[in-house]
Amino acid sequence: MNEFALIDAYFKRLSEHAGALLSPSHPELMPALGIGDDCALLNVPAGMQLAVSSDTLVAGVHFPESASAFDIGYKSLAVNLSDLAAMGAQPAWFSLCVTLPDQSENWIESFCEGMAAVMEPSPIVLIGGDTTRGPLSISIQVMGLVPQGKAMTRSGAQVGDTIYVSGCVGEAALGLLLAQNESDELWSQDLDHQHLLGRLHRPEPRVVLGWAIKTVAHACIDVSDGLLADLNHVLQASAVGAQLDLPAIPTAQGLDPMQALSAGDDYELCFTASPADHDQVIAMGQVLDLPITAIGTITEGSGIIDLQGQPITASGYRHF
Ligand code: ADP
Ligand code: MG
Repeated sequence: MNEFALIDAYFKRLSEHAGALLSPSHPELMPALGIGDDCALLNVPAGMQLAVSSDTLVAGVHFPESASAFDIGYKSLAVNLSDLAAMGAQPAWFSLCVTLPDQSENWIESFCEGMAAVMEPSPIVLIGGDTTRGPLSISIQVMGLVPQGKAMTRSGAQVGDTIYVSGCVGEAALGLLLAQNESDELWSQDLDHQHLLGRLHRPEPRVVLGWAIKTVAHACIDVSDGLLADLNHVLQASAVGAQLDLPAIPTAQGLDPMQALSAGDDYELCFTASPADHDQVIAMGQVLDLPITAIGTITEGSGIIDLQGQPITASGYRHF
């Protein structure tokens, strides 16, 4: 199959799938012009801002060469949606640049099914891209909509804010240990192995949570490189420090808690809000059936300390 046949057979279909999910509920998200021309044409509704983010996933770096096509498709879109979630933006459109070695049509079909699985709960329309031959890599640009001036940023944390994290951190890292070492004693421990592998391969972008909390949150980031590393980005951008209640942080059972705080790939949200809004924050988590935990306080100064005042350091995953 040549490039054009592939686009028609698979990528266009994926775009129509999302369009069908969106057209009754969000007609404004239907592109004025989608796949097939030199550019797509998009109308940004009045009063909204466009939130744009890109992520590239390279075989052997971001996922093992052996990962399934479904999981690669799923994760490449999910991690991009997580960035929209962190800003409180509603997913709208994405473009998809794929470099493929000589994948079979079965591979491409499963890859698209993985993406379609992410679109079911978070509809988003594929509006274009590029298809080339070479070592496997997937590059996605997502675009979301957020009411003018309402996006959550990393720089909004205020002294006295409570720091929150959704879900549990370290589960994806535990999933990775399981995936990498099939004979590891982890497999014999009393853990929910399938859940942990799911947290690694099929993270759920916290899109609805992000949209909801932006009414009260001052700053937000998605936890992709590790809770401590990502919180540090917020602290630096906001020119503040943090005091963490380490035992309060929900970490994966079976993993050393300090390791869990530096582990990447969980795609939970870490955000700050005024203590006056605590009940509202907790209630939002209850509505979404997603635990939200208060894990510390924003302080003056810089860096992270524990309740005893001892500095906590950790480095997240770095490519360079
Ligand atoms: P051009 O050469 O003008 O860049 P292409 O031949 O690369 O156009 O692509 C033709 C059309 O198909 C364009 O609208 C492009 O956005 C779309 N397209 C190409 N690859 C993909 C893809 N992987 N997913 C979605 N749309 C794609
Ligand atoms: Mg092109």
